[in-house]
Amino acid sequence: MSNLHFSTKVIHTSPSKKDPHGALHVPVYNNAAFEFETSEDIALAFSGKKPAHSYSRVSNPTVEYLELQLKNITGAFAVTAVASGMAAISNAFITVAQQGNNIVTSPHLFGNTYSLFSQTFQAFGIEVRFCDLTNISEIESKIDVNTCAIFFETITNPQLEVVDIPALSKIAAKHNVLLIADTTATPPYFFNAKKYGIGIEIISCTKFISGGGTSIGGLIVDYGTYDWTHNKKLQAHAEKHGQGAFNIKLRREVYKNLGACLSPENAYLQSLGLETLALRTDKCCENTLQLAQWLSKQTKVKLVNFPGLENSKYYTLTKSLFNGKFGSLLTFDLTSQEQCFRFMDNLKLIRRATNLQDNKTLIIHPYTTIYCDNTPEEKQTMGIADTMMRLSVGIEYADDLIADIQQALDKI
Ligand SMILES: *Cc1c(COP(=O)(O)O)cnc(C)c1O
Repeated sequence: MSNLHFSTKVIHTSPSKKDPHGALHVPVYNNAAFEFETSEDIALAFSGKKPAHSYSRVSNPTVEYLELQLKNITGAFAVTAVASGMAAISNAFITVAQQGNNIVTSPHLFGNTYSLFSQTFQAFGIEVRFCDLTNISEIESKIDVNTCAIFFETITNPQLEVVDIPALSKIAAKHNVLLIADTTATPPYFFNAKKYGIGIEIISCTKFISGGGTSIGGLIVDYGTYDWTHNKKLQAHAEKHGQGAFNIKLRREVYKNLGACLSPENAYLQSLGLETLALRTDKCCENTLQLAQWLSKQTKVKLVNFPGLENSKYYTLTKSLFNGKFGSLLTFDLTSQEQCFRFMDNLKLIRRATNLQDNKTLIIHPYTTIYCDNTPEEKQTMGIADTMMRLSVGIEYADDLIADIQQALDKI
């Protein structure tokens, strides 16, 4: 049955081996090493000639099951689960980038990704070229023979900017450049990365997939669509392994050497979370739309930013790209930082915390927290105002959230 829908496919993904006890969910294999019957078998496993688990830093049945679920729902060529979203980004780039290369991206990035590109990678001779990804001619002016990838986030946080993915994909294809998307805000079920020409998809499972902020994890989804002969580092691999060039370099070298494997416990939690992804995200998205519409009508609220509001310049694009959904993040502004703090301190239900896409609704003042190390000028370029709060909306009953916001607004 190939025409099954998302939730059915996720829930009924078959493991690589039937459980000897008939367990209905792949259990947590919390062990480091696996034994073999013969020396021949262990040699075949190490050389990759016979698929088998030998050591949990390299592969593990519980982690593999999460990878299989992702493969099943996305139709990807290969999936690698890693310790965190940041591990997914660093593993993917260390696989495709070498000294002298550059990465074309927007400055509107998750904070640690920005730091990884502009500091960590810079020190190894990999340059980052920031540009406005909503401006096609600006992107083209940044691409050259040393560009190893164009990287973008589907809905940027906290600007909530959405790039024209079909247009971006066309440019990447025209220049034979790999397109890498961080789809944490719009994981599979929202967004079909393969359809839009994305070569490598990155997802932080910590967010929507973990099933309520239960654990940290990340995914590298390889669609097998990019012609790796265009990548300088993988050229030789591509001649030998074709479509599998990236995956072999990653699995047989980079991933093993960096050691950022996903723990089996976390893989288990994320696999369970994935089973209820559609249920939870539908609710999160409905709640966010309702809250955004309500907040827009409040006189004390200066501004509401949410791509699901019809007056947002990203409304039509967002609706067409993400399965009619707009995500579960919104930002709104009061008149001063002091007002934001007073409002936040009066909330009774909504939690003051970082993280996104938990089952709980979370609020944060990005200017004084996530961006506290940036200069006021940097914050301005990144669109971070001291009057802005970010709300990550959970699965509670929307009226209860509205009542909480109402009573806190009444106190300012
Ligand atoms: C959280 C996040 C990451 C990093 O994920 P971790 O699991 O925290 O390492 C990367 N990209 C985006 C868009 C995120 O929201």
